[in-house]
Amino acid sequence: MNKPHTVLLLYLALLGACTTSATTDPRTLAAAQAADPGCSGRVLVSTGGPFPRNATTLAIRWTGFTNYELVYDGQIILLDAYFDRGSTFPPLGFRAADVKRADAILLGHGHVDHMADAASVGARTGAVVVGAPVTTEKLLTQPIPKEQVRTVTGRGGEALRFRGFTIEPVLGRHGDPPENVAKAFGQALRATTTPPTAEQTAELARIRERGVSDPRVVTEGTIAFLFKFDNGFRLMYRNSGGAVTDYERAAMQRVGRVDVALVAVSASYIQELTVKQALEHARAYKPDVYIPGHHDSSYNNLWRPTEPLFQALKDDNPSIITVSRSYREPVCFDTENNIQRRGQGG
Ligand SMILES: [Zn+2]
Repeated sequence: MNKPHTVLLLYLALLGACTTSATTDPRTLAAAQAADPGCSGRVLVSTGGPFPRNATTLAIRWTGFTNYELVYDGQIILLDAYFDRGSTFPPLGFRAADVKRADAILLGHGHVDHMADAASVGARTGAVVVGAPVTTEKLLTQPIPKEQVRTVTGRGGEALRFRGFTIEPVLGRHGDPPENVAKAFGQALRATTTPPTAEQTAELARIRERGVSDPRVVTEGTIAFLFKFDNGFRLMYRNSGGAVTDYERAAMQRVGRVDVALVAVSASYIQELTVKQALEHARAYKPDVYIPGHHDSSYNNLWRPTEPLFQALKDDNPSIITVSRSYREPVCFDTENNIQRRGQGG
């Protein structure tokens, strides 16, 4: 991709459709984006915010960890469902009970920090809830109508059809941070931060009951979701910072590249490890736009820094666009502007 194209794409990427100005002045960008309430407000559409004006605009809002709200052509897809995280976390600005509308909830894996609110939000909205066998086993022990639950293995032939796009579940792999690193950082954090109160410990234990604790999550419980829009736009969602699998490589062989990758930052703390994993993801999915997730944390833990990843990704591929926003702040894409249409998909 040449430089002017990058600028144009960035502009369109951040604004959605409907303008042709080539400026990247952030004040102009903000003004143009504000013209579409669906691409400027910080209220999730699933909690009552407006849809984007144009049916082909994709609005993405990050809501902590690897929760994202995707809105497209009057439909709402929630990626993960972990909203009521407890008082040891910075607030997201809404609660699970505020989520009133969704068409689907895709659970990348079943650990508590990805599925704790899937049953309650699923039951209230009537959304289809999709996950690996180990995830839906757990989900079905909670109050949600079983007709809404869809089990996928990510091994092929499980495409989910929506208006204007298809979602392909692809078997991924959970992250596996080195034990010595996790142990050393855990000790340092316990020695230097305020411990949770007894009430907070009890609160966290209650939340934890709604997630999976099973070694199967690593090899057969982590599902990446590949979105294939009818107009050619492609998006990959991967909610754990683990190694790229042969299933993912095969899926990428079929589609070539993606326009947007929403990818968890590895939990390995050390830059040389998180960067290595992010590079593997970026080289596999070849996104025009990389949007990280799972980088925020509770008050007594550490955020995973995104700038070192962005720097390494850009050193590796100067054309890549990196985007990181605050909770609920939208990023809009004009899906009509995509890699397939530009003929750079392979
Ligand atoms: Zn996990």
